[in-house]
Amino acid sequence: MNLEYSVIYSKRKSLSIIIDRDSSVIVRAPIKISQEKIDREVQKHKKLIQEKISRKLSISIQNQTKEFVSGESLLYLGRHYQLEIVEEPFNGIKFDNKFFISKENKQNANQLFRDWFIKSAKELFIPKVDFYAKQIGVTVNKVNILSLRYRWGSCTPKDNIHLNWRLIKAPMTVINYIIVHELIHLIEPNHSTEFWNRVSIQLPAYEKAKLWLKENGRGLEKDF
Ligand SMILES: [Zn+2]
Repeated sequence: MNLEYSVIYSKRKSLSIIIDRDSSVIVRAPIKISQEKIDREVQKHKKLIQEKISRKLSISIQNQTKEFVSGESLLYLGRHYQLEIVEEPFNGIKFDNKFFISKENKQNANQLFRDWFIKSAKELFIPKVDFYAKQIGVTVNKVNILSLRYRWGSCTPKDNIHLNWRLIKAPMTVINYIIVHELIHLIEPNHSTEFWNRVSIQLPAYEKAKLWLKENGRGLEKDF
């Protein structure tokens, strides 16, 4: 796929490629240079440019924080739900097709949501691990729901499964895929043909989940 970019011509001798603040690619070029030459240069450095862009995006995601104001939305099981700050006092988070939090708890919203998401992740993930472990025929020693950075799950030589609580933001099909993936690692340590065969026996449409992770995975790196 070709990289999109815009060209700014000026009285200069050499060509330079800049990645703008909004991650768009700008080429500063001498007036006399041909379009073909510019294109060749850009495509030659495509990989490096794309790496720079993705690094930039991941930093900007990390810097984005929720303000916890009414109308903001939070991702939960693959869907965006609106947040509403209400006057009436109550503890914690309420969820009913919308997230509700009392105005008096607004300052602690970050912690309260974290607690709520982790609790939901435990309630949802552990029975799923049990279910698929039986299906696959493996024994899991312990399931840990953790705050993993840049990984959705992992398994240990002692048959423990680690799952990232932020996975609760993904659709159920993606959660199932990560669980099955880690469980099958208990019998197949490598991503061999046999590994993927076993995955597809449990989840014939697992490629869809992989694609979802590829497209949305970065957004899961931040808490909310
Ligand atoms: Zn793996």
